[in-house]
Amino acid sequence: MSLRQLKEFCIPGDWAEVDAQLGRYGARAFVLAGGSFVHGLDARGLLHEVEALIDIRNLGLDYIRAESGGLRIGATTTFAHLQAAPTLGESPWLGALADALACPPRQIRNVATVGGSVAASCPYFDPPTALMALDARVAVVAGGARREFPLGELFAGTFENSLRRGEIIVELFLPRPTGRSASAFLKLEGNANDLAIVNCAASLEIDAQGRCSEARIALGGGVGDAIARATSAERLLQGRVADDEVLWSAAEAVGEDIDPHTDHRASAAYRLAVAKVLTRRALTCALARSARTPT
Ligand SMILES: Cc1cc2nc3c(=O)[nH]c(=O)nc-3n(C[C@H](O)[C@H](O)[C@H](O)COP(=O)(O)OP(=O)(O)OC[C@H]3O[C@@H](n4cnc5c(N)ncnc54)[C@H](O)[C@@H]3O)c2cc1C
Repeated sequence: MSLRQLKEFCIPGDWAEVDAQLGRYGARAFVLAGGSFVHGLDARGLLHEVEALIDIRNLGLDYIRAESGGLRIGATTTFAHLQAAPTLGESPWLGALADALACPPRQIRNVATVGGSVAASCPYFDPPTALMALDARVAVVAGGARREFPLGELFAGTFENSLRRGEIIVELFLPRPTGRSASAFLKLEGNANDLAIVNCAASLEIDAQGRCSEARIALGGGVGDAIARATSAERLLQGRVADDEVLWSAAEAVGEDIDPHTDHRASAAYRLAVAKVLTRRALTCALARSARTPT
């Protein structure tokens, strides 16, 4: 364990205390949410400089608010809390998120937070891929100032996020689609406790004529340095009736949007083949769910 430099572990109850600690320790402060990825970061030698752990779980960021415009999820909401929210089971447009939250082991779901999951910027995690396909926006706060931006802008590379010094993620917002909409998420892993070899989330909005008025596809798990949006595949679906032929050609097109790599778990060629299969299956599942959705 490389937290040898650690001098302080604090659990602030208000933002003034957070700001004071961040001001005191600067880059040597580490924001702690569920803490489930601390070992993962430590094992990669990323915690050498850390002198203070700032636990943000007492800041009132554990909430789920369903509004007419969408869903607001506080950053320290755990996977288990979100999974249990009635709105998740009742809303086909959130299907991909429900699927992805079910992937980590139960012990992890009880502590891991939605904010920590995206802040870690690990392209192998599951909920962030689903959140990308759901067009999530991130809200961050620093020194009392708040700004919001699309989730994709948070991911600057593997284990690198674009947060500015002192910024803390406070909320994720998922805009509710206006039409008949559904989404789905799928993952291929080596074993039940493994991170994704490839994962994929697809979200479709279907108009009254049965055409795709909106399609979003996100892929993670070794298909690039960050989670990728399959924009070529999305364009192929736009305005078309998603029949078998269209789904096959969209799945084939993801090859233009990803850059899979080879590691000890899978070759790039295998990841590419899996990405195409998962894309077609996720689209098929989203389409079937949308057919059961009232207009
Ligand atoms: C055994 C095991 C199995 C797992 N299996 C899966 C799996 O199948 N699928 C999957 O998706 N994931 C899996 N994970 C990973 C898990 O999803 C992550 O560990 C979790 O999402 C991290 O969330 P956390 O709240 O615990 O973050 P923490 O560990 O507390 O923090 C992670 C990083 O985010 C930063 N951070 C946290 N919150 C904020 C915030 N609000 N603002 C700014 N920065 C912040 C921290 O400083 C740190 O850098 C697994 C982990 C383990 C240990």
